[in-house]
Amino acid sequence: MDYAATILAKLPGAPKRDRGLRHLVETLETYLPQDAVQDVIRAYEFGAAAHDGQTRKSGEPYISHPVAVAQELADMHLDAQAITAALLHDTVEDTEASLEDIAEQFGDEVAGLVDGVSKLDQIQFRSRAEAQAESFRKMMLAMIEDIRVILVKLADRLHNMQTLGAMPAEKRSRIARETLDIYAPIANRLGINRFKVLLEDLGFKHLYPMRYRVLDKALKRSKGNQRQMVKKITEEFERALAQEGITGQVIGREKHLYSVYKKMSEKKRLLSDVVDVFGFRVDVDNVNDCYTVLGLVHGLYK
Ligand code: MN
Repeated sequence: MDYAATILAKLPGAPKRDRGLRHLVETLETYLPQDAVQDVIRAYEFGAAAHDGQTRKSGEPYISHPVAVAQELADMHLDAQAITAALLHDTVEDTEASLEDIAEQFGDEVAGLVDGVSKLDQIQFRSRAEAQAESFRKMMLAMIEDIRVILVKLADRLHNMQTLGAMPAEKRSRIARETLDIYAPIANRLGINRFKVLLEDLGFKHLYPMRYRVLDKALKRSKGNQRQMVKKITEEFERALAQEGITGQVIGREKHLYSVYKKMSEKKRLLSDVVDVFGFRVDVDNVNDCYTVLGLVHGLYK
């Protein structure tokens, strides 16, 4: 019998039916020791009890949100403390639970992370310009203390963006704007491409719903074509590398929606001009190979 099922069977009532928790436990089991998984489940129980009776705007029980945030971080194989903090990240602000309770139950490290996330939530800005500069500074400061605080916050924002549809229009565009101005750039700076791409596309979708729909449709039409081109060029590069006896990896990437939009609006370009430009990366083992590859690429394409 699998471990997740054994554990979940022991939990009373609702948790047993929580498919989100089941998936989370299954993910954690792939990289954390069993006692660490037990601790995370204890945090789930604590969080579920604290948020009991609260619902998301979508009507779901509130605990589904911290579970989704924790899942995002579990997929990145973050440690047990970060996952625990993700499960508890809204308890101090939105429930009766105190930071002392959390420290007592889950240790100072987890309490410190929850405190950090709560503090980021309290930063308020008067203007857009201020929001950009101020938040960057504050976030950077927080990051020096513990980078996991930012990771929890980014995953929190991502899930909020994914469930933003339930919010009134005005709030939606304010949150979308903030996501594009603050959170996506931070994800970018940290090199977390998945967060950056999702935050940008969701931010764009909710800030400019019409433009998003039109562009989305047009992009889907041209995507098939684009994919073929990327494949063809990748194969050409790989052949050229093999001929030179260089071991390396060619990575072709398709542009995401928001990067296409930005390019079109900043450079006043047509969609066809933008989607026909492809991005490639060639990873090699040393600097010499790097210059050789650059030469190869120049030889292949003017
Ligand atoms: Mn949250």
